[in-house]
Amino acid sequence: MRRPLSGLLARRSWVCLQCRAHSTSPSVHTGSKKTNLPNFPARTRFAPSPTGYLHLGSLRTALFNYLLARRTGGQFLLRIEDTDQKRTIPDAEQRLYDDLQWAGLQWDEGPSIGGPYGPYRQSERTALYRTHAHDLINNGHAYRCFCSADRLDTLARHRSQAGLAPGYDRTCADISAAESEERASKGDTHVVRLKVEGYPMFDDLVYGKTGQNRSPNKLDLIDRVYDDPILLKSDGHPTYHLANVVDDHHMKITHVIRGTEWMPSTPLHVALYNAFQWTPPRFGHVPLLVDQSGQKLSKRNADIDLSYFKDRQGVFAATLVNFAALLGWSHTQKSDVFSLEELEQIFNLKITRGNTVVAFEKLWFLQKAHAQRFAATGGPEFDAMVSKVSQVVSDTYSAKELTPLLQSRSLNQYIAPLLRADAKSYTTATDFIPISTLHTAAAALMLVPEPHWTIETHKANITSYDGSSALEDQDPSPPTTPEDASKTKKSIDKTFKKELYHYLRWALSAGAAGPGIPETMVILGRKESLRRLQEARDLTREDGESMRRAKKEVDAGSAERALGGDRGWMGSLAGGV
Ligand code: GLU
Repeated sequence: MRRPLSGLLARRSWVCLQCRAHSTSPSVHTGSKKTNLPNFPARTRFAPSPTGYLHLGSLRTALFNYLLARRTGGQFLLRIEDTDQKRTIPDAEQRLYDDLQWAGLQWDEGPSIGGPYGPYRQSERTALYRTHAHDLINNGHAYRCFCSADRLDTLARHRSQAGLAPGYDRTCADISAAESEERASKGDTHVVRLKVEGYPMFDDLVYGKTGQNRSPNKLDLIDRVYDDPILLKSDGHPTYHLANVVDDHHMKITHVIRGTEWMPSTPLHVALYNAFQWTPPRFGHVPLLVDQSGQKLSKRNADIDLSYFKDRQGVFAATLVNFAALLGWSHTQKSDVFSLEELEQIFNLKITRGNTVVAFEKLWFLQKAHAQRFAATGGPEFDAMVSKVSQVVSDTYSAKELTPLLQSRSLNQYIAPLLRADAKSYTTATDFIPISTLHTAAAALMLVPEPHWTIETHKANITSYDGSSALEDQDPSPPTTPEDASKTKKSIDKTFKKELYHYLRWALSAGAAGPGIPETMVILGRKESLRRLQEARDLTREDGESMRRAKKEVDAGSAERALGGDRGWMGSLAGGV
């Protein structure tokens, strides 16, 4: 497990721009109205319920809390809110730990590592919640409610039929303390309700002054009713509201960053803090994530759990974290590409109000950017990229096909330079393969031994090469009839061969028009052909930028132009010949 970073930041020599003006000593952020950052170390928490897995929205919530703690030299806590045992999914808790660690969001206090204010799983803190519910009964801010489920049902039905909002008529609020105690000790089923006298406004870090400051008492045509939310259920377990407030207080949380779906609960939470006479933390609600058409992200439109991104799509942790950070947070840096460590240095609470549109093109843009960074610096992330691509290659090609190409190299040794040369195009290991496929084909044609180095052999080899099998993974829409299938195969084969020709012409004769490829190969001879292919590969390694430019031209249909003057895009495919 990674060492907690708390404290480290305070010792770093980096000082943010705003603070630099006021401070000469290395320090954490000293607070600013503009950035909404506190001038003290924030204690934040991520408080998931193990009723589901981590998804994009909850990753963002965890990340913002993590970053706020890191940026201010504070602590980030993980608390498992498992009060709803019925909806708990057995492996959700473990998956949450795994996913957070995968993303690099190591908590400073929480399950498995403990901390001074544990336990950090709510199901292990029930006694504490009961004590606090009783404290509120004793100070008059809460009361036991013995109303039967039947009575409450009737009341609710009655009100709903009359078109009125739900509410409780406070029948039990008038039961004397002595009677209430006695009935409870006899085992009479009851809940504990908060006696809400008012819902205060609060100053949200994102939305500013908010809440309705409304009286919870509603005098309507039927009766006077009250909100009086339940704090302790009839089974003696706390509701989310009680447990959440008690824990945030005892765990000394200074800032609660959470989704706007919790905003309607916040006035109630503030009322609870007031009833306990505790100072509430600062709240910041982050906007909803929506798709391009304004729909809330759901399982149907990509608010899928993290395993989809990390396992199915092969998105790097750095990419997803970077992507999540940009959802609703604005910065003034020149580029949007940040590692987690960089985010820890620049994060602030300049969070936009209003729904955040999630555009997945950005995810792939960031993925390529991080791939390039990994390729440039090497290290474990780059090694993982190489292994993944190698895995896909060895799953796709037989050893017989690979051995002549690899010669004495391992697959990893073959893939690494290829990836280094063309990391800009890397999105996923599977998508990277067609690139190595073309390259493999070109190299394979060169494997003809000297005695067979003839126009006829080359012609036959090129003709018999099945480009459709080489590129079949690229076909986006599977054909529906055998005729369609054969048509598709033919067209893929044609495209592939065209690309192969371009590549060979470029590599062997710098794109100059002249005799056909087989003829050129014979005129040059085996040794010279191989030398030129090798040279082409070396050139493309140095020439990443022109390669990209040329590829764009090729994509736009001007292949000849692109391949003519500039040892352009195809060279990128020759990375490992
Ligand atoms: N347990 C709540 C959840 O699952 C936490 C809400 C909060 O952060 O207060 O999102």
